[in-house]
Amino acid sequence: MGALDGKIAVVTGGTSGIGEGVAKAFVLEGAKVVITGRREEEGRALEKQIGVRFVRADVAIEADVRAMVDKTVEWFGRVDCLVNNAGIPSPMTSITEIDVATIDQILAVNVRGVVLGIKHAAPVMISQRSGSVINIGSVAGIRGGISAHIYSASKGAVQALTRSAAAELGEKGIRVNCISPGAIVTGIFGKNAGLEGSKADRATGVVKERFATIQPIPRAGLPDDIAQAAVFLASDGSGFVNGQDIVVDGGMTSVTRGWSAIVAGRAEMARLIKEAATTL
Ligand code: NAP
Repeated sequence: MGALDGKIAVVTGGTSGIGEGVAKAFVLEGAKVVITGRREEEGRALEKQIGVRFVRADVAIEADVRAMVDKTVEWFGRVDCLVNNAGIPSPMTSITEIDVATIDQILAVNVRGVVLGIKHAAPVMISQRSGSVINIGSVAGIRGGISAHIYSASKGAVQALTRSAAAELGEKGIRVNCISPGAIVTGIFGKNAGLEGSKADRATGVVKERFATIQPIPRAGLPDDIAQAAVFLASDGSGFVNGQDIVVDGGMTSVTRGWSAIVAGRAEMARLIKEAATTL
């Protein structure tokens, strides 16, 4: 028996990375899953590989988001879970040089897309008097100095929207939560470096190596780490969890540096204090 037996889920941005990982985990747990994205070829391939249905949809376009929900209801009759995962990175530009087109593009996908997802899935969930919305935020929304300015702002907005929507929809039996991933090995970093999408999705070796040492857990974060938190939030086991941001980052944001570095730093400071004290 799976944790999501009989549930119907929509995962936006399911054509790669975290969204693909969430879709796989949901299928393994017994859910029927509709993935969306703009890349038709990747979506169709995943239909065959992991047994999901694909709808081509750009989350920044309201008609696409409405059609994504309508299609899911036409196929399966309901929507138990919406994972608002689709997102794009932004260039590491100085705040003094950011251009308006970039601001609008990032916010259109990362913020407007999430608002539209909730707007169109909520009426279906309200009529069921149940549902779980899971927004994908980021540690960049809660700490400065992790990612680009507009990306960070967009993820902070997703976290705030989660709380705001949870206040309204919670009264109607719908839970709205957020997962804020830390550094997860996906193609998003290659895409930000200018690689074409599908090539970036395959070029993750360097990212995996870099991310292995930047948090206390001594390995890189993987899409399945986020997927397992999503399984919990989609399942009935999280029935009293609402308006929360679950940070899945191997401890990155709750520590300033790893224990070994602290021990070594303290030992060095103790040595220097004693050395200085000999002259007192
Ligand atoms: P990814 O592999 O590039 O996935 C992004 C997904 O979003 C792709 O499936 C892409 O599909 C889709 N997408 C992008 N723009 C879209 C649009 N306008 N309409 C519909 N779909 C769109 O990167 P990822 O790392 O898995 O990112 C997934 C989410 O996690 C994002 O919201 C990201 O900000 C967040 N996140 C990632 C990390 C990390 O370290 N990887 C950390 C924190 C948060 P198409 O190209 O087919 O449209």
